[in-house]
Amino acid sequence: MKSEKRISPEVKEIPVAWFNGASDSGCTISILNAVNPTIKNVLIDLIRPGYHLNLRFQSTIMAGSGELAVDMLREEKLENYILVVEGAIPTADGGIYGTVGEKEGKPITIQERVLDLADRAIAVIALGTCASFGGIFAAAPNPTGCQGIGDTLKKAKILRPVINIPGCPPHPDWFIKTVVEIIHQGLDKVLKSLDELGRPKSFYGQLIHDICPRRPYFDLGKFAEKIGEEGCLYYLGCKGPLTYADCPIRGWNNQSNWCVMSGGPCEGCAMPEFPDLSSPLYQKIVQKRLPGIRKDTDTEELKVYLKASSNSLP
Ligand code: SF4
Ligand code: SF4
Repeated sequence: MKSEKRISPEVKEIPVAWFNGASDSGCTISILNAVNPTIKNVLIDLIRPGYHLNLRFQSTIMAGSGELAVDMLREEKLENYILVVEGAIPTADGGIYGTVGEKEGKPITIQERVLDLADRAIAVIALGTCASFGGIFAAAPNPTGCQGIGDTLKKAKILRPVINIPGCPPHPDWFIKTVVEIIHQGLDKVLKSLDELGRPKSFYGQLIHDICPRRPYFDLGKFAEKIGEEGCLYYLGCKGPLTYADCPIRGWNNQSNWCVMSGGPCEGCAMPEFPDLSSPLYQKIVQKRLPGIRKDTDTEELKVYLKASSNSLP
């Protein structure tokens, strides 16, 4: 792949720059909790014989700070890299609501930084719902004009492939296995495996509702009335019928649990409309066609779901 650069006759280096926009660094924390492989494996070991990732910039874990750290983003120091963007991009009023560093005494906006970085990168991974679609930072009324990196690049007419890994935060596997796949199979193959919203189908190919262990309760009309009760959590606000992600079969925290298994509803954190259309979190979903639902799933599933939502249940 084009990002390869030999650092020794045997080992090829793949540089990565990880840039935070408007974020709380929750995605970073989630990825640092990766179990198999661990983040140490990914950053230090050879992901594939002869291939080594080189994380050049990551503001949460890098040793350098201030000018020394920001300097690493300069063109002379960074080339042929994969750009990871965490967090949304504030774009209102020239992007002034989010800045990183200064140039000649003037703040440099996140928008300016990220456009420059994306323009020089070979591909962009939008890590988390905020970077993918705007997320919590773009929640109505969104005075800062926050949006995902894909929309920001489109507006600036920067044609760079963007892989969206939504989730608030995303599961570490969704990110790490995507990176590993890029290195093993090549960027082109991974790009071909994305859905129409730029998400890897292997992780976001199924509705949570279709693979949820509580699904038999839904089909039987047995609904929990309180958190912790047996039954489907649909009437407690579960957004599983609208959310594409493999949480039920992947599990979180080293496969020990996930939202519905712990007794709480799926909050739809991986869907493009999160959090506006997930809210109120603990109320049943409104009866309307949601923009994030793919055409091919406006099917029996959604009809059953809509029908159920009109029942006079508690
Ligand atoms: S509504 Fe939620 S709890 Fe009920 S079956 Fe669907 S995903 Fe599972
Ligand atoms: S189950 Fe729903 S709320 Fe929980 S992590 Fe998965 S997508 Fe997010």
